[in-house]
Amino acid sequence: MANIIKRAAFKLMEKTLAQHANVVAISPWNSGSMCEIDLHLPTVDMSKWTTIPRLKCKVDEFEYRDYTPTWWEEEKRICTLYVKTGNNGPGSRWAKRLQPGDEFLVSPAHAAPLPPKPGKILGLADGSALGHMLGLKQLTDPEEHPLEVGIIFQEDDQLPMTLSRQNPEFEFMAKPQRSSLESFQNWLHTKKLSDYSSIYIAGYSPMVRELRKQLKSSTDQNTTIYGHGFWR
Ligand SMILES: Cc1cc2nc3c(=O)[nH]c(=O)nc-3n(C[C@H](O)[C@H](O)[C@H](O)COP(=O)(O)OP(=O)(O)OC[C@H]3O[C@@H](n4cnc5c(N)ncnc54)[C@H](O)[C@@H]3O)c2cc1C
Repeated sequence: MANIIKRAAFKLMEKTLAQHANVVAISPWNSGSMCEIDLHLPTVDMSKWTTIPRLKCKVDEFEYRDYTPTWWEEEKRICTLYVKTGNNGPGSRWAKRLQPGDEFLVSPAHAAPLPPKPGKILGLADGSALGHMLGLKQLTDPEEHPLEVGIIFQEDDQLPMTLSRQNPEFEFMAKPQRSSLESFQNWLHTKKLSDYSSIYIAGYSPMVRELRKQLKSSTDQNTTIYGHGFWR
């Protein structure tokens, strides 16, 4: 009975919130653990994306997963998702199956606020939050909010050259010897934390929690720290 009610609520939510997305192009990275998906969202008004957005994507009959749109063009209503595909879950399997021309349901929502005050921003993320950091870049003025981002890929991800060329403020670290947490702890030693007015951390939830706790005790009160756990 509980299952029937859950399914009915799910269908109702879908009817009221979901919009159509069309797959325009798919580019898997060489490593096979990341997939770039270009989407057309004909009914979504992207001018309303004034904070870091997310798209709830229907990945199976009763499963939605959040992915972060980036590189969006308001007039054409197109955007790109960077989806990790190296794990065994409904979201990962769905992304690997997608083909250009496919259609699926999405529900756009807010994911994270922009910095409350001008000043340098530091970003720390794993591959699942690459889009999140690119979205932050798209929404902020580099004069007002100079950005420095570290992205750790646990797999041997071979980045498309264009991605590193177009994002010199991003430091991409592939397959570090240590865990993401330890690698970021070392990376933070190269940074002067008092330089930053905001710090964004996103990705693997236990890593986000631990880094946020440590940064809170080592920065002053003027630094705003955002932590967003994406998966566990
Ligand atoms: C606001 C928000 C934005 C997000 N944006 C993105 C995005 O742009 N790109 C993206 O790839 N993900 C993003 N995520 C995470 C995404 O929603 C899923 O949680 C993730 O893709 C895993 O879904 P899944 O169904 O494949 O695996 P799940 O069913 O959630 O998990 C299956 C197994 O895979 C492991 N696992 C899950 N994710 C990863 C991973 N990234 N690396 C290694 N192992 C993993 C889990 O520990 C578990 O053992 C976002 C999450 C949130 C909350």
